[in-house]
Amino acid sequence: MGNILDGNKVRDQILAECRPRVERMRERTGRPPGLAVILVGADPASQVYVRNKTRTAEGLGIYGETITPDASITTEGLLRLVRALNLRPEIDGILVQLPLPAHIDSKEILNAIAPEKDVDGFHPVNAGLLAIGAPGLRPCTPSGVIETLRRNGIPISGQHAVVVGRSNIVGKPMAMLLLEQNATVTICHSRTKDLPAVCRSADILVAAIGRPAAIAAEHIRRGAVVVDVGINSVTDRAMAERLGEAKLAAYDRRGNVLVGDVHPTDMAELASAYTPVPGGVGPLTIAMLMQNTIQAAENRQAAENRPGGL
Ligand code: NDP
Repeated sequence: MGNILDGNKVRDQILAECRPRVERMRERTGRPPGLAVILVGADPASQVYVRNKTRTAEGLGIYGETITPDASITTEGLLRLVRALNLRPEIDGILVQLPLPAHIDSKEILNAIAPEKDVDGFHPVNAGLLAIGAPGLRPCTPSGVIETLRRNGIPISGQHAVVVGRSNIVGKPMAMLLLEQNATVTICHSRTKDLPAVCRSADILVAAIGRPAAIAAEHIRRGAVVVDVGINSVTDRAMAERLGEAKLAAYDRRGNVLVGDVHPTDMAELASAYTPVPGGVGPLTIAMLMQNTIQAAENRQAAENRPGGL
């Protein structure tokens, strides 16, 4: 059985490092870092995510503000909200909770966030800075993966990392961050030929495809490190039966069960180390959001103190 890479432990370490930085910011400037979250409409899952983010922020002493426009808000109305937050000096980080209602142009909204306040790291300026290896705000989930590997002493430099998935929020930035750490990187997607063989060539296999347990024994080389970014809720008992005893028991208790993109028992059996779902990559996303908010505040403060100011 492989070693479990415990995301809750890594999250707690990162949050513990955040606390003194918040305190220092308060001492230097008389105010804490500030995070504004925009939650459009009343989607229950999004409400839970946003509550977790603002509660974690407040627990660290970060100023948190949630803005909850009605689902009927227009793209223009939402743009006005974002632009107003861009101008507020006490707000260092702006996060727009996704997904947005279908009538809103998500790309236009995300692109309107000032890059220096883009704590999700999705703005094209931050994506570009990552691509050229320059400092910038990095996307939270993939940078959480790097922290997990680093803090568990897993070597990245020189290793062959295979990333399955090429989305702008996970797969592509994940590949860039692994490259930045000197891995040799292969990116796979839905058109990749012989995916199992490519995956089996990985020293580090990262799955971010959004398909429950799609990566299984045939994809995993014995001894590889496997990072499962996926979060899927399985509501079908026949599917739960294929996930092993523990998942089936959880399903029978609750009527649904969370599973990643990697088959849980195949991963535990074959990998030398792996991130479980839940409790692996998931907890890191919020921790990295906190780190980005503090980083954004420190960067803005440093820019204000430079001759000529911001
Ligand atoms: P997207 O749907 O945006 O992207 C999925 C990617 O996977 C695409 O590039 C797609 O390829 C590829 N893909 C889909 N099916 C296959 C297949 N059968 N074989 C190979 N490649 C495939 O998803 P996200 O990147 O947003 O999310 C991925 C997963 O990560 C989801 O489970 C999501 O819930 C989870 N997630 C978890 C987070 C966390 O905090 N832990 C945060 C964000 C996401 P193509 O481009 O060719 O279509």
